[in-house]
Amino acid sequence: MPTAPIYLDCNATTRVRPEVFETMRPFLQDQYGNPSSAYRLGSTAARALEQARAQVAGLIGAQAEDVIFTSCGTESANTALHSAISAFPDKRHLVVSAIEHSAILKHAEHLARRGYAVTRVGVDAEGRVQPEAVAAALRDDTAFAAVMWANNETGVISPISEIAAECARRGVLFFSDAVQAAGKVPIDVSRVPGLHYLGLSGHKLHAPKGIGALWVRPGAPFSSLLHGGGQEEGRRAGTENVASGAGFGQACALARGRDLAAVAARRDRLEAALLERLPGASVNGGGERLPNTTNIYLGGVEAGPLLLLFDKAGLCASAGSACSSGSVHPSHVLRAMGCSAERAKGSMRFSLDVFTTDEEIDRAVEIVVRSIDKLKAALAG
Ligand SMILES: *Cc1c(COP(=O)(O)O)cnc(C)c1O
Repeated sequence: MPTAPIYLDCNATTRVRPEVFETMRPFLQDQYGNPSSAYRLGSTAARALEQARAQVAGLIGAQAEDVIFTSCGTESANTALHSAISAFPDKRHLVVSAIEHSAILKHAEHLARRGYAVTRVGVDAEGRVQPEAVAAALRDDTAFAAVMWANNETGVISPISEIAAECARRGVLFFSDAVQAAGKVPIDVSRVPGLHYLGLSGHKLHAPKGIGALWVRPGAPFSSLLHGGGQEEGRRAGTENVASGAGFGQACALARGRDLAAVAARRDRLEAALLERLPGASVNGGGERLPNTTNIYLGGVEAGPLLLLFDKAGLCASAGSACSSGSVHPSHVLRAMGCSAERAKGSMRFSLDVFTTDEEIDRAVEIVVRSIDKLKAALAG
């Protein structure tokens, strides 16, 4: 059996924690009831889902009844945007940050083809969305604004409270994608007036893939994407994913209040070692960042072919969006920060979780350095 790889791609997805798996197991086996059913097998499932809803809400300072389970972070983002434009059909302008996930960017592009005007707000050189830049983009006909809490590629955190305040001043519905931030930095929606919607995803915090959540501020407009049964108080039709919901709740409970100083220390150890060993290397992004993420310019080698060498050596990391040839499209996030295409293509993201060890970090550094030497030798030869 091949040995497990060193997994430094935790912003792409994470492993399901054993406690999460154990929480899910009964609902995949003998507790298989439909939460809508009137007998005990059903009400057991319904109770598990409500406990999970309270656990998800607890992670973000919300009330359980304001949390809707979805199938993923993408659905949460799409639902928020759909809700806003449905509430204000005459407002035909959207504001999104240039570093949003495709869950927002592609939906906005889709709406642009249907006549919406879309303003993409840029970021500063450190990768942060500035409240003043959002304020300048807002118009009288702006229906919706989206700025992510923390970026998935750089880990850079934007000043969401200030941005929410700017949106509130102009009466604009504001969504923040907190898929990467949740469980890594404190989030308290009760202390962010002006925030209307918040998106979460299970698989980025040790729950399974295929479960997400959308928080909706009481009184904010809501419009379902799915129509059918009355599940989720009529806000999201379709029989609930009970097992994954229960697992997501458990994952949120385990993440709540967790001190990630040790993770940050390992990330710093990785960063420092790579900067020391790789001539010309430097970090993309600065200021306040997620504790688990670093994005590094490797000093002049292409990230795409390197990822293949990493894979052979048993290391998982990521760069831009990989295409089939093994080369990468330069990241739209790094480009928005003012990086050249060359720098963007020569940068790599390493993202850790609470299971990453010092020993793995040290081995990863050796793999990175050796792989770069190999690639350089192959190119020179
Ligand atoms: C992964 C991710 C998403 C998408 O979540 P899915 O559950 O995979 O749809 C959205 N936003 C960010 C910032 C992400 O990292």
